[in-house]
Amino acid sequence: MTGVLATAMLLYTEEQRLAIDGFRKFAEAQLRPKVTEYEQAGCPPARTELIDLFRMLEDFGLVSGLIPADCGGPGIDRFTFGLLYEELAKVWPELALAILIQSHVALILSALGTPEIKKTYLEPLLRGERIGCLCISEPGVGSNVAEVQTRAVREGDGFRVRGQKLWISNGAQSDFAIIVCSVDGELSMLIVDRENGNYQSREVKKMGFVSASTCELFFDGAVAPAGNLLGRSGGGLTQVLKLFETARVFVGLTAVGIAAAALEDAIGYAKQRHQHGKPIGGHQLIQAYVAEMATEVDAARLLCQRALMLLDLGVRCDTQTSMAKWYATEKAVEIASRAIGIHGGVGITKEFSVERHFRNARILPVPDGTTEIQKLIIGRNILGISAFT
Ligand SMILES: Cc1cc2nc3c(=O)[nH]c(=O)nc-3n(C[C@H](O)[C@H](O)[C@H](O)COP(=O)(O)OP(=O)(O)OC[C@H]3O[C@@H](n4cnc5c(N)ncnc54)[C@H](O)[C@@H]3O)c2cc1C
Repeated sequence: MTGVLATAMLLYTEEQRLAIDGFRKFAEAQLRPKVTEYEQAGCPPARTELIDLFRMLEDFGLVSGLIPADCGGPGIDRFTFGLLYEELAKVWPELALAILIQSHVALILSALGTPEIKKTYLEPLLRGERIGCLCISEPGVGSNVAEVQTRAVREGDGFRVRGQKLWISNGAQSDFAIIVCSVDGELSMLIVDRENGNYQSREVKKMGFVSASTCELFFDGAVAPAGNLLGRSGGGLTQVLKLFETARVFVGLTAVGIAAAALEDAIGYAKQRHQHGKPIGGHQLIQAYVAEMATEVDAARLLCQRALMLLDLGVRCDTQTSMAKWYATEKAVEIASRAIGIHGGVGITKEFSVERHFRNARILPVPDGTTEIQKLIIGRNILGISAFT
């Protein structure tokens, strides 16, 4: 961020500004060169490559950061974590999504895991040895998580799991999966190890986020020990809905990162491209576009930051988290589209990054609750009438 737009940074503490500065330098030097590499290869990093990337990001607390101090983590507040997360999303949103999942797996394990679970799953994850994924969605279950079909049946001193999950981020590289499934007729969370082919994955090809893994996962008689039940049996749905609330703000911040990158590209191009005897940025309509885009990026960021501050306070804020998610993700699509417009013909080519911003932005209104679902939550809370039933 340069010039007048950087003024807003003065609202952050000196410590936060230094952290952002340090992270930007790291991201430009270490991550930026890899982005094009993976984009051109058209596939996500292999497991060992993702492990290396997570280890680098953990130097900034981006894996363990959200784990509270009383659970042995650094306990970075969500607001500060979000500042670095947005910087990551601006450079490599696909990796931001991967870290969002890994950090939330860590958060769930730290909050709900038994000492044994922490030893087997959380500690190796924090040492950068294991990758986890979170499985809720299924081929027949998306917006209505209460209809989950995957079942874990008690067998001996453990469980046998049958079912299929879909759209699972980090699925290809995962060593274990936290799945929402039905246990004794109630939704619960269970950890299933991948070891010895216990579950299989198939990568789903997408229009954007090509360097982020999104998988179909097959549990065809997978086994899990009884001790792998996470949290209260039957508490699965409540726990998942609570988790969604934090995660959806980070999806919003991913969109802010993409929108900020698209805006920066548009500003750069508007200054150097000349038409009708002057830079196109000197034409009034282009100035209006840039003004609108810059305002919308800020509005989206502020909604996300407010939601994170409320989450840090520990108060109920599902209205505000839903506002942040739908607004940030939908605006990113519009902003990236406008950035393509400002680029004219070159904007739709693979030689400029705005087409990638647009393909990436178009993905984000879907995960962690679609725009329609966010608006139904907000509407329900404001009106006191649920449209879900
Ligand atoms: C990149 C990516 C990563 C993801 N990562 C994960 C992951 O790691 N783990 C995981 O479990 N899931 C993941 N998901 C799945 C995601 O959460 C679901 O795709 C999302 O919840 C929507 O579900 P669906 O695709 O089945 O759409 P559906 O629920 O079938 O919805 C289809 C359309 O109908 C609309 N709709 C549905 N119900 C209503 C209603 N009551 N009123 C009005 N409109 C409605 C929706 O808004 C949408 O427009 C990911 C998805 C993507 C795209």
